[in-house]
Amino acid sequence: MPPPTSDRPWDRSAPEREGPPSAWALLPEDLAARGCPGRPEHVFLRLQRTRTWREEGLFLSREIRAWLAAHADLALPEILERHPSADGSTKLVLGLADGHRVEAVHMPRSEGDPRVTYCVSSQVGCALGCTFCATGAMGIVRNLTAGEIVGEVLVLMRQLGPQLGENVNLVFMGMGEPLHNLAHVHRAITVLCHPEGSGLSPWRITVSTAGLVSGIEKLARMTPRPQLAVSLNATTDEARSATMPVNRAWNLARLRQALDAWELKRHERLLFEYVLLAGVNDSLEDADRLAAWLGDLRHRHNVNLIPMNEHPRAGFREPAEARVQAFAARLHQLGCFVTVRRSRGRDVQGACGQLVRPAAAPVFGKVRGSAGRGPADPAAAAAAAGRPG
Ligand code: SAH
Ligand code: SF4
Repeated sequence: MPPPTSDRPWDRSAPEREGPPSAWALLPEDLAARGCPGRPEHVFLRLQRTRTWREEGLFLSREIRAWLAAHADLALPEILERHPSADGSTKLVLGLADGHRVEAVHMPRSEGDPRVTYCVSSQVGCALGCTFCATGAMGIVRNLTAGEIVGEVLVLMRQLGPQLGENVNLVFMGMGEPLHNLAHVHRAITVLCHPEGSGLSPWRITVSTAGLVSGIEKLARMTPRPQLAVSLNATTDEARSATMPVNRAWNLARLRQALDAWELKRHERLLFEYVLLAGVNDSLEDADRLAAWLGDLRHRHNVNLIPMNEHPRAGFREPAEARVQAFAARLHQLGCFVTVRRSRGRDVQGACGQLVRPAAAPVFGKVRGSAGRGPADPAAAAAAAGRPG
């Protein structure tokens, strides 16, 4: 018997962080509506373009800094740990103002190429409980706010570069199910893509979902609309429901229906991720079923095969290399566009599905400054500007 509605994680919204609005998620019109002094586009630009930040804080008048400190939350996530991997990527652990931690991965393209892909988190933990995923094993702690998501990206850009948004690719493939936190995730994307701000492009932002159909259908109609990636990971409802409980709410047929309604613009592709679990979903019959399920989507898609990243919270194993290659070759023969993704950052547990942090003790009300530790923390500086004297 299915569990009562309230026990279904896909029906519940995650806990939200409370508090004043984050300055990092306010659009120019919000700043104006709230009575921020100065020209709202200018204030927004100084907040969002990290290359305008100064060691001593935001490059804004004392009056505006004082207003921001009094009317908005200027806390930024803080990079607490950096774990460089042999493959050139770096796993970052970020501390949030209430003491929780999330992770992100910095993935430069190649030497000399200024472009960088950031894999970012949208929630602390995840409610969806996929059985192969380390984040899923944590359960859900809370949603990240739009301000925390924007802050996560800005702090990474500021400290690891590049500072030009046009060179940044963003993938929501870190901790959490972004469509379970759609309002904040979409707000963050809107802010990051605003032409007066850091100038990211929705073409270069990918939101990855485990198949939350209600979210896919909402996102399909939203502007700006990022690129969509779907974690498929199984080819029968029985197998998919066993590893991805969300399939019990929206099965493969229903998921396919939502994807058919996602109108692809020119040059857009749907991305499918398929985690290969040895002996579970890696047979040639699975490859055949996968290609059949894709059907006419085959012309407008890419399939990323991700051999299971093993971790202590799941018993699944990575298939042997020959099996991975045979699976890829079969899909290729059947007309699919396939890439085998050796997840980056494996040696530092920064790869897909390995992102998990125990929640640290909360430090409510404490905004960590960065005095003496590298680049400016405009939050602390602006707060200081607001203090009398
Ligand atoms: N919640 C979203 C995005 C975060 S998970 C989603 O599920 O799509 C990002 C990707 O990591 C997903 O494609 C997921 O299937 C994959 N993943 C999860 N655990 C994994 C593991 N142990 N090994 C390899 N990939 C994994
Ligand atoms: Fe959540 Fe994605 Fe992990 Fe599933 S794979 S538990 S949806 S983060």
